[in-house]
Amino acid sequence: MDSTSLSNLHIVCIPFMAPGHILPMVDMAKLLAKHNVKVTIITTPLNAIQYKTSINNEIESGSPIQLVEVKFPNVEAGIPEGCESLETLPSMDLKGNFLIAVNLWKHPIEELFEKLEPFPSCIIADKHIPSLADTSIKFKIPRIIFDGMNCLNLLCNHNINVSKVYEGVSDSDNFVIPGLPHRIEMKKSQLPMIFTPSPNEVLNGFRQRIRDAEAEAYGIVVNSFEELEDGYAEEYQRVTGHKVWCVGPVSLTNKDDQEKSQRGSKNLTDANEYVKWLDSWPTNSVIYACLGSLNRVTPKQLIEIGLGLEATNRPFIWVVRKAYKWGEVEKWLLEDGFEERVKGRGILIRGWAPQVLILSHNAIGAFLTHCGWNSALEAICAGVPLVTFPMFSDQFYNEKLVVQVIETGVRIGVENAVHFGDEDEVGDGVQVSKENVKEAIEKVMGEGEEKNERRERARKYADMGKKAIEEGGSSYINMLKLIKDIMHFKSNV
Ligand code: UDP
Repeated sequence: MDSTSLSNLHIVCIPFMAPGHILPMVDMAKLLAKHNVKVTIITTPLNAIQYKTSINNEIESGSPIQLVEVKFPNVEAGIPEGCESLETLPSMDLKGNFLIAVNLWKHPIEELFEKLEPFPSCIIADKHIPSLADTSIKFKIPRIIFDGMNCLNLLCNHNINVSKVYEGVSDSDNFVIPGLPHRIEMKKSQLPMIFTPSPNEVLNGFRQRIRDAEAEAYGIVVNSFEELEDGYAEEYQRVTGHKVWCVGPVSLTNKDDQEKSQRGSKNLTDANEYVKWLDSWPTNSVIYACLGSLNRVTPKQLIEIGLGLEATNRPFIWVVRKAYKWGEVEKWLLEDGFEERVKGRGILIRGWAPQVLILSHNAIGAFLTHCGWNSALEAICAGVPLVTFPMFSDQFYNEKLVVQVIETGVRIGVENAVHFGDEDEVGDGVQVSKENVKEAIEKVMGEGEEKNERRERARKYADMGKKAIEEGGSSYINMLKLIKDIMHFKSNV
């Protein structure tokens, strides 16, 4: 590509404030900068802390990338000081205030734009910051959206919304999602929250702004690769007319153990300890369980998961987030003697785990996951079969993708979504029992024809993912197309 025009290009990446959005956007920014394009990532001061080391390493290796902090108007929107991301909200009652702060954030961002050199040529904006649509109009630059989902999700949401196929269907009945390359059924009770109007007017207004901003965007960049979602990207482009660039799996930009363990954290000491521990187990023998960065699983359900892991008699690493009614979980952990009983073969991580590092270790034989798209794709890239426990948003679609389409996953059997913030509404607090958890894990771990075939398929997709982002691979080529399209837009303004 012409180096003179490349040096005038400046892409600004603005992720939504939650780890599942910032992590892939930072990875994508690093990949973009490897093509000698100037890239600026904008985030808030507290969010920036986790990413500084990784970005500084990129800068030292000559990458034209920078991380710029812009103050988050949390206090102005009625959110306490110190809260700059969704997972740190002290109360779910503040969700509406958080969205108000997200809308207001465009003002200091626009002030920063006036000072950036060279002037930004394009914004890659998270779909959940729709006010950046105004910014792109104001500065006459294209806005490309990133929403952290895959093409199957995009197509399902679009087709379900247009067909309204769920109307008149009871919560517990299955319906077939129309217009997909595969026959996929789901229940109304598993659909993302966007299909249920909220009693919260701020939330409804915000969702409408997201839909409008999505329709007006120049295109959408997706963390996935074409070989994984054969037919879905093309069909989504055909029915919506949107430009789509699949440029993933972006987490593969983190190549060595240090990069993997610094992804979203600075704690290298613990990461080294986990690797040492994993080194002591045979290939494919350890279960890794983690339900993402936002989950608010009920104490009763967490206990069933813990007991299920224990009942397998296999080694495991279990990541538990200190969130919903955490006191009850901690009490159980201390009083029931769980940690003592599993000592030596079970590690409990309270908080943040170096997930990409752990998944890439050959001792890991299965990943018990909530099916957040980043987690699912990270497992696919590592060739690890999945045991699926979806909760909300796109997670049930992702379960369908790994269980039915690529057949590298096994369901635990969750039937209904529990939307973020609605945890009090889960009947007795349990969706699946310890027996369900153990049974699903046993379908994946160990030897047997079906298990070996599943593992073989997982290895095949991992190889495809690696090839996709290497020079000449589908995602590498799509990244070049994306850069060319932005240059083309710039020269035609
Ligand atoms: N993650 C991690 N350590 C943790 C929890 C999460 O590194 O203890 C990372 C994980 O690797 C993934 C992201 O956080 O990249 C979570 O995104 P995902 O889409 O899977 O789920 P979400 O957290 O948004 O529900």
